[in-house]
Amino acid sequence: AKVMVLGSGGREHAIAWKLAQSAEVAKVYCMPGNPGTAAEAKVHNLVLKPTDADQVVAAAHALNVTLVVIGPEAPLVAGVGDALRRAGIPVFGPNAAGAMLEGSKAHAKAFMARHGIPTARYGRFDDTDAALGYLRDQPLPVVVKADGLAAGKGVVVAAERAEAEAAVYQFLKWGPIVIEEFLEGEEASFIAIVVDGQVLPLAGSQDHKRLLDGDQGPNTGGMGAYSPTPILDTAMSERVLREVMRPAAQGLRTDRTPYCGFLYAGLMIGPAGPKVLEFNCRLGDPETQPLMMRLRSDLYTLLLTAARGDLLPTALDWDSRAALCVVLAAGGYPDHPQTGDPICGLDETYGDTVKIFHAGTETRDGTVITAGGRVLGVTALGENLAIAQQRTYAAVADIRWPGLQYRHDIGHRGLRRA
Ligand code: ATP
Repeated sequence: AKVMVLGSGGREHAIAWKLAQSAEVAKVYCMPGNPGTAAEAKVHNLVLKPTDADQVVAAAHALNVTLVVIGPEAPLVAGVGDALRRAGIPVFGPNAAGAMLEGSKAHAKAFMARHGIPTARYGRFDDTDAALGYLRDQPLPVVVKADGLAAGKGVVVAAERAEAEAAVYQFLKWGPIVIEEFLEGEEASFIAIVVDGQVLPLAGSQDHKRLLDGDQGPNTGGMGAYSPTPILDTAMSERVLREVMRPAAQGLRTDRTPYCGFLYAGLMIGPAGPKVLEFNCRLGDPETQPLMMRLRSDLYTLLLTAARGDLLPTALDWDSRAALCVVLAAGGYPDHPQTGDPICGLDETYGDTVKIFHAGTETRDGTVITAGGRVLGVTALGENLAIAQQRTYAAVADIRWPGLQYRHDIGHRGLRRA
């Protein structure tokens, strides 16, 4: 079989790498992929734009692929899933209507309210006076969010009213906003495959959104992740399935929104139990990297079964070891990443327990150089979280470029609870 993966980040490298391990798969085409995917056996890059539905459909037809897997949110929100389905090509990833759960925070909040899914109390506004009036009565801290996709730049957790008001003015220039209650607790990522009412959970994981050690500094796309995570133990995972994931899958059906893809619930787990901070309509990056390291089930068979709307297995097979990913970012990330630096140390070889996933890289004159904010995701398996962490950082120490930055404490919450 031949399969196509849309996207070029660390998440897509991990997906392509895992798909290529399937005995069923002869070739994986990454659109556009990166130097990491290009170096994998069976994987080829196609220099095309994944958000251009016509190009994607034409390539899928020309290459006779049996499945298209959509990695990032942009092509999903742009309706590339719809175009592939119209063309009769099996696709894993929701249509634009399903992707609205990620594409619009106001839509997601209304969906949760309608279907009784626990989330922060909120108001939606499109004018300044009403927003400021609501804000005046809210306790601090308070959270202000831009409605649409903003790549992590559309959320302000404000400790002071003036800061919240500034965010209201700023975000209203872009469109509607959501003001919501600040939730206390610990964040975790719960991802499931959802196919029209069927829910198949993946292992739990935890991301680290802040740039600096100790969860300080600005928000980023994610600086590291690990799986499993003690906060999502069996009892809590059951609770999330019961209170969040199954009601969401059922809610999509009630709303007559067909859905086939990953559904990601960003959770805040506090004294009142799990509450949803956000839904994403795809896998998390970097959560995907440790998840793919641990997944033992055949990813191709699984996603093809889902894309056909057939009956999903009742559970997935996971490596019992822990996996941990540390993101290596460019100097100046997240605001002004510095790019074009040659990366040293990539030719080190490791056993099966360490994998370096590429994200923002490019090849220039045969050398791999930095080409984005988040550059690499060094990922390792270990008998427990501490060993996975130690092994990951040992591999990280081999890699260098000017301005390289990374967190030194990925996994700290899991280790504290262990
Ligand atoms: P992402 O990069 O995950 O797509 P986003 O821009 O969609 O982010 P959210 O995930 O909604 O935004 O919020 C970003 C971060 O802000 C969260 O990971 C969380 O740390 C914090 N946050 C958001 N909403 C709340 C809340 N109600 N209470 C406390 N913290 C919150």
